[in-house]
Amino acid sequence: MDWSPNRARGLARLAEFLPAAGRRYADERNHDNGPADGGRSNVSQLSPWLHAGLMGETEVLEAVLARHSPHAAEKFIAEVFWRIYFKGYLEQRPAIWAGYCAGRDAALAAMERNSGLRTAYAEATEGRTGITAFDVWAKELVETGYLHNHARMWFASIWIFTLKLDWQLGADFFLRHLLDGDAASNTLSWRWVAGLHTKGKHYLARPNNIARYTAGHPQGPLSAEGLAGDAEPLSEPTEYSRRLPDLPPPVTAADLAQPFALLLHDEAAHHAALALPAAPALVIGASRPEARSPGTIGTPAARFTAGAIAGGLAEAEEAFGCPSIEWREGEPIEPLLAAAGVDRLAVPYLPAGWTRDALAPGLSDLAEQGRVSTLLNPLHRATWPHAKAGFFGVAKQIDALLGGCGIGGG
Ligand SMILES: Cc1cc2nc3c(=O)[nH]c(=O)nc-3n(C[C@H](O)[C@H](O)[C@H](O)COP(=O)(O)OP(=O)(O)OC[C@H]3O[C@@H](n4cnc5c(N)ncnc54)[C@H](O)[C@@H]3O)c2cc1C
Repeated sequence: MDWSPNRARGLARLAEFLPAAGRRYADERNHDNGPADGGRSNVSQLSPWLHAGLMGETEVLEAVLARHSPHAAEKFIAEVFWRIYFKGYLEQRPAIWAGYCAGRDAALAAMERNSGLRTAYAEATEGRTGITAFDVWAKELVETGYLHNHARMWFASIWIFTLKLDWQLGADFFLRHLLDGDAASNTLSWRWVAGLHTKGKHYLARPNNIARYTAGHPQGPLSAEGLAGDAEPLSEPTEYSRRLPDLPPPVTAADLAQPFALLLHDEAAHHAALALPAAPALVIGASRPEARSPGTIGTPAARFTAGAIAGGLAEAEEAFGCPSIEWREGEPIEPLLAAAGVDRLAVPYLPAGWTRDALAPGLSDLAEQGRVSTLLNPLHRATWPHAKAGFFGVAKQIDALLGGCGIGGG
């Protein structure tokens, strides 16, 4: 698989996958056929480009609906909405992210004090547990930065219920290595497997299910020895209350009538997915992959992130005929704007999670002075209010949301 971190490669992957986005995806998406060339033609593998904002959900849905009927593409469309649902859910309960960070740091500190835990963690993350399937996935994740959705579920389940490791350490391991490492999808999916997202309902990996859906894997069917046959879901004392934040109003050309700078960040690395109403006079890149974790970010994920922002800046320079600069960690942003003679900054919405943690503090003065215009994707704006509890609340609105946003001729 060519994981080049640029928009052209994301669009090319979308074009390759499109014929399979209908019934084939519905029938075959659960099979993990391994990373060999062509093995993954049953799923899109678009998540790294979507996460980085090199492409947007709207253009993916448009392309799929231009090729397939809404009925044939129902399963694929629903999966894209899972991504938006998780984003919206975390926006309404950002304390879940803060709780995860605190729990992760406590679990890392506990591991420092306990050599048995350190050994168990090293065996799991280096693929030396003796559980064949799990070890294959641990190595694949570190080497490639990608795992199939089913493998992520099985891996998380074995981590929590068989190896009995802290779920937050597993989520951190994923976030450090996944090309698509996303605070919302990752944290909430780990919580879902653990039984914390849908309280009391956890996901137990079964050897026969793993063997069945890895039959086409080059090393498959993968065996999974000694899995916990029964385990209680995890529980926690914290109740996370819900509140939809005040979402920023749509940004119009009039808002950006004066020269302004556009900020590109790790979840919005390309201008084309932003539908900007005016052209910027300066483009500023801010990549903060180290904010994902206190640990080291895997090489494939670090390369993807750095490449996405570098390419995004170069393409914006060319498209708008304007200069670009990097906003480095710890540097004040105001002098960068002043030097370019611009007063206002257009900022793609900073989602709850590490992207917001890393960038919002450095933008707070500008925001207080009313000099920030926040760009929020219309499909996210429309969907998030429905992401209150389970996915069903979003699922039943999908047709109306597509129609309301004019996607698929609606
Ligand atoms: C424990 C665990 C951790 C995960 N961590 C992440 C993460 O950090 N980042 C991430 O983007 N996804 C995460 N996922 C969700 C899902 O596994 C990936 O989005 C998907 O495997 C990406 O592969 P794909 O692009 O081929 O997906 P496809 O099956 O082709 O789906 C198309 C798109 O829909 C979205 N999508 C599909 N399934 C899901 C899902 N279950 N939840 C949310 N969005 C979905 C993705 O953007 C994906 O690119 C996680 C799932 C689990 C179980």
